[in-house]
Amino acid sequence: MMNLTIGWLYFDLMNTYGDRGNVLTLKNRAQKRNIAVTIKSLTTTCTPMDIQTCDLLFMGGAEDWQQEIVSKDLQGEKKQVFTHMIEDHIPGLFICGAYQFLGEYYLTADKKKLPGLNIIPIYTQQSTQTSKRLIGDIVCEVTHPALLKYIPSKQDRLLIGFENHGGRTMLLDKKNALSRTISGYGNNDSDATEGSVYNNTIATYMHGPLLPRNPVIADFLIAKALTVKYNHEVELTPLDDTVITNNRTYLLKKMYDSRA
Ligand code: GLN
Repeated sequence: MMNLTIGWLYFDLMNTYGDRGNVLTLKNRAQKRNIAVTIKSLTTTCTPMDIQTCDLLFMGGAEDWQQEIVSKDLQGEKKQVFTHMIEDHIPGLFICGAYQFLGEYYLTADKKKLPGLNIIPIYTQQSTQTSKRLIGDIVCEVTHPALLKYIPSKQDRLLIGFENHGGRTMLLDKKNALSRTISGYGNNDSDATEGSVYNNTIATYMHGPLLPRNPVIADFLIAKALTVKYNHEVELTPLDDTVITNNRTYLLKKMYDSRA
């Protein structure tokens, strides 16, 4: 029996708009395939080794003050371990505030510059012109080649989520974008890109939570985690997603209708 350890990073600080649902979805979809799952809830008291022993990483979003605490904690050996894991293709999902950490820096609403981990070539700042936050339902179409290869169905490539952020993230290389924004904002309010992909790491502004609404992304992360862990290509058996597909059809119709 295969097993999977999911590291839920800063579960008590970085967790907004139902982000926890992502962890539950990963667990549920892995268990349905007979994969044993351990969830490690990690926070500032954790050691670098606690992070290193995970097969898949997850971190949710937060307000600026919580991000400040985490950016101080994710330093030194923890930062090194975390960075190496991402470089070594350990998969991860990073939502909103967690996404912002992966770049060069995040300039908060109070103009504090929180240094990032410099893993993905992005930077994030709040607008100097307006205090408007980017809030609402969002629909995007996956454009990143690593994901396109994994998601043959055009319908499944539509990602549905909810966003609420003041930070505008700019991609230094647009080829790293996860998707193209169809409705809503995404990375910023100017270039219609959403999220970033780096190795097996997916970073996005989509709360929702993301994975129950877009299970192909959950399966991508699980399959990659097992492939890296067991050192051979792991393909997951398909699940009956009729209920989710019907729900997606309903949500997409509702979002398109409200735009008409
Ligand atoms: N505090 C950050 C911002 O406003 C992230 C928000 C979030 O994670 N929902 O941009």
